[in-house]
Amino acid sequence: MKLEHHFAGLGEAFYAKTSIQPLLKQRLVEFNQTLAHSLSIDIKSPQTKRILHGEEPLENALSMVYAGHQFGGFSPQLGDGRGVLLGEVLDDQGVLRDLHMKGAGPTPFSRRGDGRAVLRSCIREYLASEFMHAMGIPTSRALALYTSAQAVYREQPEPGAMLLRTAQGHIRFGHFEYFFYQGKEAELNQLIDYCLQHYYTDCLATESPLESMLVEVVERTARMIAKWQAVGFQHGVMNTDNFSFTGETIDYGPYGFMEDYQPDWVCNHSDHEGRYAFSRQPGIGLWNLNCLMRCFSKHLERDQLIAILQHYEVTLQAEYESLMAAKLGLPVGEVVTKLLSSLFVVLAAEKMDYSLFFRLLSQLQPNEFDLILDEVVDRERMRAWLLDYQQARLALDQTWEQGSVPMLQVNPKFVLRNYLAHEAIEAAEQGDFLPFRRLLSVLNAPFDEHESSEQLAQRSPEWGRSLEVSCSS
Ligand code: AMP
Ligand code: MG
Ligand code: MG
Repeated sequence: MKLEHHFAGLGEAFYAKTSIQPLLKQRLVEFNQTLAHSLSIDIKSPQTKRILHGEEPLENALSMVYAGHQFGGFSPQLGDGRGVLLGEVLDDQGVLRDLHMKGAGPTPFSRRGDGRAVLRSCIREYLASEFMHAMGIPTSRALALYTSAQAVYREQPEPGAMLLRTAQGHIRFGHFEYFFYQGKEAELNQLIDYCLQHYYTDCLATESPLESMLVEVVERTARMIAKWQAVGFQHGVMNTDNFSFTGETIDYGPYGFMEDYQPDWVCNHSDHEGRYAFSRQPGIGLWNLNCLMRCFSKHLERDQLIAILQHYEVTLQAEYESLMAAKLGLPVGEVVTKLLSSLFVVLAAEKMDYSLFFRLLSQLQPNEFDLILDEVVDRERMRAWLLDYQQARLALDQTWEQGSVPMLQVNPKFVLRNYLAHEAIEAAEQGDFLPFRRLLSVLNAPFDEHESSEQLAQRSPEWGRSLEVSCSS
């Protein structure tokens, strides 16, 4: 494995040198071969083994420093309190990807934290990020999962674990906030140049590289959040330190995938005000981008910053419309807009399972609606919507079948239901990783049938709907 150290080259204003502090009886239990292959990482090579086990001294390993708006309030100094950036590796597309170990032990930015992560949260991150990737959503990915005999104390003692993950970048909105609010202009400029050189190279050739890059950041963020909304993903902690400058979904904590359709749903039990509720995510994305733009107020005029932000809503709207139209198997347009707004009223009233509904819709045959009607209380209300929908589908210049096939490729059969993650975690905590692996394999190919795993596609049982997730991880 050829580790590079571009970020380390920025200098020590940007990080503190740190090393992995292995856990007691640490054991690598899951390794993402497909991902490793795309990074030319050969797990059999002795040097790679040493790196993966934290045994290779890496003098350029580091923990990043950043700031961030957390639940609306500004924290001037945060940083990787339990993360170590080992370096970067080149993938098969010629893109550098960070290798970042989470739960690697205390760092200068741990504050009161222990620098550790529990198996529960590592498994949750592994499953979610791989599922998001399979759904075509930009995200960090899991490369390796480690268990240990070490207890980590949260509300109660839990098994400690580590997760090695990759992402194009771990630079957060909060990185810019850190230097801007400290008035460190030279470092802020250094960071701007670094991002242009590494992530937004195409912008370098434009008249105003910074402006072009910020437009691209705004648009990437907008598209990412549109994708979250379409799949029913709720991040849970959309603080600016958890927002990536490369437009990737990072820092999976108390996230959730929507089951019963409820737009005001709040998955994070610690989010008492519902700041990060599902329906608020698009607005919060803009709020976060506003925080980011403020950091460039010495570089660009106010009007320029506003013009950059104006790319957000149109991009998000267009992406969302196109994703939802595809879910319905219809072309973008007024018909879809109308059908969606009436559908959401019905789904909310029925508390219908969001993903299941679209999967069943993809399997519907003309005038045979029982598949869906059997799932609802008010059959007539749903029938009326399905008749409108059918009319729109039949008006297309294609057979019914031709419309259904692509729908089955955008409406997943399998989604990461909270109770499934819970069951996989409970088994893993007893040393049985089979349920985790079985779940992971369907989430890696969520549109396929996987006949032997039929039960993983079912609605959650009653007990599984009341499980709580919080910031504790
Ligand atoms: P999060 O919202 O989980 O991304 O974390 C917010 C901040 O708290 C980040 O700076 C983390 O590095 C830090 N943090 C979270 N958990 C721990 C922990 N157990 N030990 C040290 N720092 C932590
Ligand atoms: Mg974070
Ligand atoms: Mg974190």
